[in-house]
Order: sequence, then C-alpha cells, then structure tokens
Amino acid sequence: MYYLHLVTIFATMSEEINNIVVLTSGGDAPGMNAAIRAVTRTALYHGKKVFGAYRGYEGMIEDDIVELTTDSVKHILALGGTFLKSARSQEFRTPEGRAKAAANLKKRNIDALVVIGGDGSFTGALKIAEEHNIRVIGVPGTIDNDLYGTDFTIGYDTATNTVIESVDKIRDTASSHNRLFFVEVMGRDTGYIAASTGMATGALSIILPEKKSTYDDLFEDLRKAQAKRKTSNIVMVAEGNHLGDIFEIAQAVKKEFPSIDVKVTNLGHTQRGGSPSTNDRVLASVLGFYAVKGLMEGQAKVMTGMINQKVVYTPLSEAISKTTDLDEEMLTIARILAT
Ligand code: ATP
Repeated sequence: MYYLHLVTIFATMSEEINNIVVLTSGGDAPGMNAAIRAVTRTALYHGKKVFGAYRGYEGMIEDDIVELTTDSVKHILALGGTFLKSARSQEFRTPEGRAKAAANLKKRNIDALVVIGGDGSFTGALKIAEEHNIRVIGVPGTIDNDLYGTDFTIGYDTATNTVIESVDKIRDTASSHNRLFFVEVMGRDTGYIAASTGMATGALSIILPEKKSTYDDLFEDLRKAQAKRKTSNIVMVAEGNHLGDIFEIAQAVKKEFPSIDVKVTNLGHTQRGGSPSTNDRVLASVLGFYAVKGLMEGQAKVMTGMINQKVVYTPLSEAISKTTDLDEEMLTIARILAT
C-alpha cells in the first residue's frame, strides 16, 4: 500500500482532464514500457482517452501520435527499451517547435501530458506547460538516478544489476591473471551507478563526478592493496569523473606501477538494455498509476516519485534544479571493506 504525501501543497486546478498523451524522452531506461502501460491502463480505467507520441517530443511536433488501447500495451511489461521509442529533439528546444507540438495536441483535445524521462525532458515539459497551458506531469525514467524527489528513478535498479553481473565476470578473469581492471560506467554528472555498483562488487576505488579524486588517492589505494597482497582489483569509474578518460587513468597507473597488468572495460550501452528488474517494474507501475491519478486530482508541473515507500509529488522545477547528495558514508564503508 502506498501512501500519498504531498511535498508541496498546490492549488488544485478545477478543470477535468479528458485526453492524455504519454511519451518517453531522453535516454531510454528499462521500465519505461511498464510506466507507459501503467499510464495507459490507469487512464482507460478512469474513462479517459490516452494517446502515445512516438520518439518523444519529435512525435508531438511531427504529429506522430496514436490512440492507445489496453491491447496496445499488452506483453510489454517485461520488455526493455520503450516501444514508443525515445529521441532527443532539437526543435522542441525552440518556441516554434513547442508551438507545433501544442497545436497537434490541441487538435485532438489533449489536455494533459505525461512525460517519462529525465531532467532535460522535464525542462521541456515545463516550458510547454507554461507557454501553452497544457497540464504536465513527469515520471522519472532514467538509469542515472539523478532526479531530486524520488529515492530511485525507473531503470536505475536494472542498470546496476547489469553492471554487477558484468563486473562479477570481469572479476573472474581479473583473479585468474592477477589483473587490475578499470571499469567505466554511465554517469556524466552523477555517480550513483558507480557508487552503488562499486560497493556491490568490492571495487578498490570508486571515481566519481561529484568528488575531486586525485591520483594520489588512487595510488594510495593501490599501494594498500599491494601491501595486503590483493591479487585482483576493480576500480569503478563514472564517465564524468574529474581525473579524465578511463584510458588516461589506466595509463597513468601503468606508469606509476609498471608491474601491474592493467586492463580497461567500458560497459557502455549494455547498461541501458535488458528486461526491467522487479523493483523497476513495480516502481514504474506505481508511479505511472499515480501520474494519472495526480492529473485527475489537479496536480500539474510536478514529478511523481517514491520516497521512503511513499508516493510524493515534487514540483518539476525542484526535481530539475535540486540534487540529492551522494551518501558519503556509503563511500567510506565501500573503501574500508575493499581492502
Ligand atoms: P537522460 O537523463 O536519460 O539523458 P533527459 O530527459 O535528461 O534524459 P535530454 O536529452 O537532456 O534527456 O532531454 C530530452 C529532450 O528534452 C531534449 O532532446 C529536448 O527535446 C528536451 N529538452 C531538454 N532541455 C530542454 C530545454 N532547455 N528546453 C526545451 N526542451 C528541452
């Protein structure tokens, strides 16, 4: 049972909504299909018409919009990616592009928009809401877990499970050959994936965008590992870290420790794919359901999220601009346990 808790109380809008459009935007994430299914079936359950826009805001601009039925979303719960497809639309960044998109919604009497995506997608959603008086609600769909207003974003759990599955395999070969592996994971601005998977795989060091790591820190970790005669080591590197490109980091280490056999693996887009985990399917289902419920109750310009097992609505402006700090203690624990 999920309880509704409003982070901020909003004046509710009185007009009823009738027609809803749902889209997925930005980087795809496992669980987006489950969220589309939840939005569609909740809307239909309440007697609303529901449409899907293909390729995110591109589909709204190009009028690639179809009506969805309960059958349109059958058999998609277990599928990764998004059947509505996703895109990054340059045209939607312009007022003219947004006006075209709004006109295509208005001709179908669509009065509400559910955007499943990340902070960029929510920035666009806020703009069309303000410029064209469309009721919008966001559902956090991104593997990065970088949105304020929810403990977890849809896709993050699956992505981290994919990472640890791969790193466990890398660990087998690292142990067999006494190797040091640098593993790059996604995270241009935030290191949630690197931090949690680093702890979960016993990484010796975790290098993150949020922390100004130095080579001295890294070399010290490696010296400690050598002193303890550790035979295999993993260093988890988030792509947006401050030390630089993973190959440069590996080269610098090789120069300082010529005897260490250093290898590099970039897990890349494997992290986005795959069937969503139980957690992601449940999160997507609940947040999709509450997106429609929120719209019907007058919520607008908010994101649905889950904090401490409670559904919360956070203003999109805050979801975009605020950040949740990485848990420093978690990093300390990971460091202590790794050597
Ligand atoms: P992810 O976190 O997975 O990258 P995202 O939603 O942040 O997802 P973006 O590429 O940043 O992904 O944004 C998706 C789309 O949202 C953009 O292609 C653009 O159409 C729209 N968008 C982003 N920023 C703006 C903006 N400032 N104004 C209008 N639209 C925007």
